[in-house]
Parts: sequence; C-alpha cells; structure tokens
Amino acid sequence: MTSAKTATPSDTAAGQKVVVIGAGIVGANVGLALLDKGYDVTILDRGEPGMGASFGNAGGIAVSECAPVAMPGVLKNVPGWLMDPLGPLSVRWGYLPKMMPWLLMFLASSKKQRVEQIATNMATLLNRAWDDYDPVLKEAGLTDAVFKKHGAMAVYRSNASRQAAEYAIDLRRRNGIKLRDLTRDEVRDIEPDLAPIFACGVMEEDWGHVLDPFKITTGIFKHFLDRGGKFETADVTNFVFRDGKPRAATTDAGDMITFDHVVVACGAWSKTLAKRLGSPVPLDTERGYNTTVPYHDAKLSRMIVCADDSFVLSPLEMGIRVGGAVELGGLLAAPNYERAKALFAKGKEVLPKLNAEGGTEWMGFRPSMPDSTPVISKSPHHANAYFAFGHGHLGLTLGATTGRLVADLMATGKTPVDMTPYRINRFSRFYSI
Ligand SMILES: Cc1cc2nc3c(=O)[nH]c(=O)nc-3n(C[C@H](O)[C@H](O)[C@H](O)COP(=O)(O)OP(=O)(O)OC[C@H]3O[C@@H](n4cnc5c(N)ncnc54)[C@H](O)[C@@H]3O)c2cc1C
Repeated sequence: MTSAKTATPSDTAAGQKVVVIGAGIVGANVGLALLDKGYDVTILDRGEPGMGASFGNAGGIAVSECAPVAMPGVLKNVPGWLMDPLGPLSVRWGYLPKMMPWLLMFLASSKKQRVEQIATNMATLLNRAWDDYDPVLKEAGLTDAVFKKHGAMAVYRSNASRQAAEYAIDLRRRNGIKLRDLTRDEVRDIEPDLAPIFACGVMEEDWGHVLDPFKITTGIFKHFLDRGGKFETADVTNFVFRDGKPRAATTDAGDMITFDHVVVACGAWSKTLAKRLGSPVPLDTERGYNTTVPYHDAKLSRMIVCADDSFVLSPLEMGIRVGGAVELGGLLAAPNYERAKALFAKGKEVLPKLNAEGGTEWMGFRPSMPDSTPVISKSPHHANAYFAFGHGHLGLTLGATTGRLVADLMATGKTPVDMTPYRINRFSRFYSI
C-alpha cells in the first residue's frame, strides 16, 4: 500500500488549486491526502474546524460495522419509532413529510439482497480503514497515546437477543469481520464493572477507539496546515460557473474563492451544495445524542456496544461517553436532551458505578444516506467537482480511507477499489434529472 508520506506528487497536480468545503474529519483527511498528491489545497469552513459531527461522536473506529441501519424486517419497527420519542430510533412528527422520500429509500435499502450488497460495499471500505489511517496518524504524530486498538465488546441481555442478531453477525463474518462469541463469564472477566445482566457477548476484534474525536480531527487538520495547507473561514452558498464548469465558491459575505477543483465535504449540510453542482442527493441527518461524565468510580477497558438498546459506552480521555440512538428530525429542530438523559439512564443500568456529576450533553448531526453508504465520488456533470459526505455512523472510521480515495480519483482516476457503489448519482432514478 502507498503510505500517505511516500505518495508521489502527481505532475498534473502541481500548481492546481483545490478548495475543500468542510473541515470535519472527512474534509481534514481529504485536504491532507490532496496535499500528498501535490495540489495547492485550501479548506473552507463557516465555523471552527472539527466542531460539526466530528466533535463529540463516540470515538469508535468501528471497522466491524458493515451492516446497514436498514436491515431486513425494519418496516415492522416503524410504528414504534413514531410512538416512542425516546426509543433507539425515533422520528419527529413535524419532520415526517420532509423525511418521507428518504424513509422510502431507506426501507427499499432494507431488502435482503440490497443489504447483502451494502454490507459487502461497506466492508470493502472498512477492511482497509486501519491501513489508510496508520500512515496518516503516524505522520501527524497521533500515535498509540490517542488511539486504542483492542476491540469492542457487544453485550446481549439474553441468548434470545443474541440469536435475534444472528443474521447481522453472520453477515459481518461473511464479509471478513473478526467476531468472537463470549460466554457470560467471559463478559464479566473482561469488564468486571458491568452489571451482571448479560447472558453473552461478542468481541469485535479489530475495532478500536480514539480517546478524543475532536483532538483527532484537529490533530490531522493542524498537520494539514503544518504541511502547507491553507484554511479560510467562509460560509459557502453557491458556485460561479464559467464555460459550464464550477470555477469559484461564493460565500454569504459576498466573497468569491476561485479554484481548479472543488470537493464538497460538508457532512450533513452537503445536500444544498451538491444540488448547486447539479447532483440532488437523498442526504439527511440521523441526529445522535450522548452524555460524557468525568471518571469517578466506573472503569471500562474498551468500548461496549449495548446491542439490545442500540447505544454505546466509550472510555475516553475526558471520561465515559454514553450515547447513540437515532432521531430523524432534520437540521433545524432544537435538540431534545431528554434523549441524552434516557440513554444515560440505560447506561447506568449497564454500568452501575456511572456517576452523572459533572456530565455534559451533546447532540450531533450524522450525515446519512438511506443505504448507510457514503458518497465518495467524482461529479457526473463536472470534471473538476468531487463529493465526500454521507458517512452516517462511520465518518470517523472512514476519514482516512475517504481522503485517500478522493485524492486518487482527482489525481489519476485510478483507485484501489471499484468506486461504483459510492457514486453520487446512485439514487438518481428517484429524481427527475
Ligand atoms: C452521537 C454520534 C456518535 C457517533 N459515533 C461515531 C463513531 O463511534 N465512529 C464513527 O466513525 N463515526 C461516529 N459518528 C459519525 C461521525 O461523527 C460522522 O460521520 C462524521 O463526524 C462526519 O464527518 P464530516 O467531516 O463529514 O462532517 P462534520 O464533522 O459535520 O463536518 C462538516 C463541516 O462542514 C462545515 N460546513 C457545512 N456547511 C458548510 C458551508 N456551506 N460552508 C462552509 N462550511 C460548511 C461545518 O461547519 C462542519 O465543520 C457519530 C455521530 C454521532 C452524532
């Protein structure tokens, strides 16, 4: 594999100006990978780098999560989502009409044949995530002290709930994911502070986690600047086209920032700019909540995935983070922190020594496609426009892989994997274009 450090700058890249819009974990990685190819790169963000979804996520390098959110049989859960606003997946009634097209595509993605394809497409990316991250982290000086690579443990309250998860587990095993079944006693031995309520577990061997997701994004971003990358604060609203090609980004302040190539990496906010570049896309947000409490008595050695209730516990640098869940409610509604509190209460059932004192709550906008698959794509309309968004639950995990693939697409068009499953126009049959 070509390491980030040894990548050879391409002749065509020299002197070419690239603008990357969005300074989250995806934009920072894309910017760095493009510098490696020899481009002159400027990242734009309307806010501080790393303050979007990349700020407060669970920190999982969740390489075993190739199964999509919409699994076979998901349809029967829809009434429950509508009725229980604090359940693992809920829909805000007021947003339902707007969300309907996305939900229909989500349900269409839950057909078994599609799920099998999606899992394989995701495993193709996830199985290379560590190989792509390792050189980036090393080069940026973000070593073992900030990354832990010792698996995550999924826990099940009953053998029946483990059995109910069998299809998802088998699907992952068939895609090369290393999963090891654990008995009740093994679960207790591995994490003695967990309540004795779990019948069994599954060790997700290759999973890792970062000790502070914000520090990873800002660490990669700082390295990007140290290597000669540039940053400008700019809220991009549109593009200027010349000879049919986008040539500049325009901002809400009335500025115009010219480029040879542009990459849209605005996370959950990418939809408007993608449309302005001629590519309407069914991107929405799965809002997620968590609470982070400082360390008191509770201890964990690794991330715990509470499979029955769809939330995770992460032992981070600043404390234990309890969160997850999905709220379909768009980008504008105010957070409902009752959700964070409900998740924390569940966390306390699992880890009784958790102490709420000094805790902070957070809500973030996962950028989500209906098929749980990111858009990593060249524009079908403009030879100089690229997209890198829609990573849903896995943006941190796939940051470096996305950077590498976008840089390859731009520099040579030759990528180590077939990019067809990640193209932006895969849902275009739903649009009148
Ligand atoms: C509760 C929760 C837990 C999660 N846990 C995990 C996990 O354990 N592992 C994992 O891999 N992923 C996890 N995720 C998902 C992960 O956080 C996201 O997929 C990832 O952060 C997306 O990164 P991004 O760079 O695409 O977007 P963001 O980090 O949201 O960055 C987008 C940036 O674009 C900027 N922007 C937007 N519009 C414009 C504009 N018009 N002009 C200029 N700038 C603009 C924003 O200001 C922002 O800085 C979790 C998410 C949540 C909410």
